[in-house]
Amino acid sequence: MSCRSKLAELLPFYAAGSLGEEERRAVAAHLAACADCRAELAFWQEVASAVAAEDRLLPAPSPVLVDRALVGAQRRRASPFVRAWVLLAAQVPLVRREIWSASALVMALGCLIAILQGGSASASIIEAVAPVVAAAGLAMLYGPESDPGLELALATPTSPRQVLLARLVVVYGYDLILGVAASVGVLAVVPAGLLGQLILGWLAPMAFLSALALVLSMVIGTGNAITAALMLWLARGLASGLRMGTMGPPAAPEAAFVAALQAYAGLWQSTGLLFALAAALLAVAVALAGQGERLVAQKA
Ligand SMILES: [Zn+2]
Repeated sequence: MSCRSKLAELLPFYAAGSLGEEERRAVAAHLAACADCRAELAFWQEVASAVAAEDRLLPAPSPVLVDRALVGAQRRRASPFVRAWVLLAAQVPLVRREIWSASALVMALGCLIAILQGGSASASIIEAVAPVVAAAGLAMLYGPESDPGLELALATPTSPRQVLLARLVVVYGYDLILGVAASVGVLAVVPAGLLGQLILGWLAPMAFLSALALVLSMVIGTGNAITAALMLWLARGLASGLRMGTMGPPAAPEAAFVAALQAYAGLWQSTGLLFALAAALLAVAVALAGQGERLVAQKA
């Protein structure tokens, strides 16, 4: 993209017809004056019509036609930065649409409850909600259940591992922005602490829980993965209640159980360990996507 205008970033939305009247007019005026953007728009119109055509044929869009458009684009522009950007942007219409609205809705509800609660409780509500939102989003990210076109996509030049990573960046980035926006919003109304502290409170648990949900979704399916992640997260809430001593001292036979729960609660507070585990789980997810690739290659 050689055009430096901010409006160039709106071209995919202009092509998809999803801009408001004011932005649409601004882009149209810029297009009349900018040949770079006209060429760029032609590409996005190709992508938009490929997605629309696919939409009429399948219950969910398949990446195949988009990939075909991408190959054309890659031939025109060799820059790896542009290729990465196009691959990322192409995932936006391809991931399950409810991820965007459902995540924002749950996060907004969390904010509302946090603001109504007030005091120090509002921070812990955001800390409790943000990781769950990301985990549910990543559980819906990838796999035959979420993506009827995936098997076909495996035959295209974009490898499943690249598709997985691109979707991961897009959806996880979206969840990070939602989490930061929620933290800023709540602290603006309820001055319950420092912004950095609040963000650090959910950042590592979010990375671990959502990476775990992604791997689980590839093994046991999206619905089961969301349930499992939610149970683990609720157990953490109960265990940290124990840890802070809100329940009385245990009798001897229960001591081992309580120690285990306390260790479990401790795990969720070990930032470094959580990030390390999240990275390991992402490596597993990429390996699983690569395995799917090989299985299909063997079948062919
Ligand atoms: Zn331009």
